[in-house]
Amino acid sequence: MDKAVSGLVLKAIDYKENDKLLTILTLDMGKILVVARGVKKSTSKLKAYSQSFCFGQFELSQGKGGWVLVGVNPVDNFFELLADFDKYKQACAVLEICDKICVENQSYPKLLLEALKIIKQINYSAINPKLLLCKFMFNVLNYEGFGIDAKHCSCCRSPFMNEVYLSVSTGELLCHACKTEDCEMLDGGVFSALKIISSVEDEKLSTVKLPTSVVERMFVFLYRNLSNKFEIRLGSVEL
Ligand SMILES: [Zn+2]
Repeated sequence: MDKAVSGLVLKAIDYKENDKLLTILTLDMGKILVVARGVKKSTSKLKAYSQSFCFGQFELSQGKGGWVLVGVNPVDNFFELLADFDKYKQACAVLEICDKICVENQSYPKLLLEALKIIKQINYSAINPKLLLCKFMFNVLNYEGFGIDAKHCSCCRSPFMNEVYLSVSTGELLCHACKTEDCEMLDGGVFSALKIISSVEDEKLSTVKLPTSVVERMFVFLYRNLSNKFEIRLGSVEL
């Protein structure tokens, strides 16, 4: 059976002597594994598309051991990322988060579209790539049912007045009255930054002006939240 699917290559690992094993997040079939035969040879027509960040339409055929790549209609390869190490690292983190969150053969259309939107901005805009990664992490938590409410206490739902506490074990934000033993006070800069990114659309992120140090601290907060919920340890970004 042959099939054409739209998707984004999350990972490409060496497989057998001349092949690669691609992890593709597709619109209709979710996360799938595809063998790209012979693509390590310089003569392969599919070589350029059998790597991370390739987005397009993939033609697949059902082989004995699973899907085999037959052809690609590429839309974008985001090649420019390779020229900027900082952008590249943050974009790799987007792919890594998708790979770790998605289970095989379950559909994640919202997550795929969000990943593409953010990778495009990392690649083509001058916006701080770490801020873009933060927005991606914030939205992913939201899509997966772990949204961060930067306006109300997670426990009593009353609006935050001044002090906000972060539960280290659950990642929840709590007010002074509800704080538990494992809470630490959340840094005011990070708290304001979270409120800003929770209300701004992806397309308007260029209007957000935040100091690099605040973005870094917000990243640590979101990363901790994400790793608590999904046991994610990203290899592409260090704390
Ligand atoms: Zn409360």
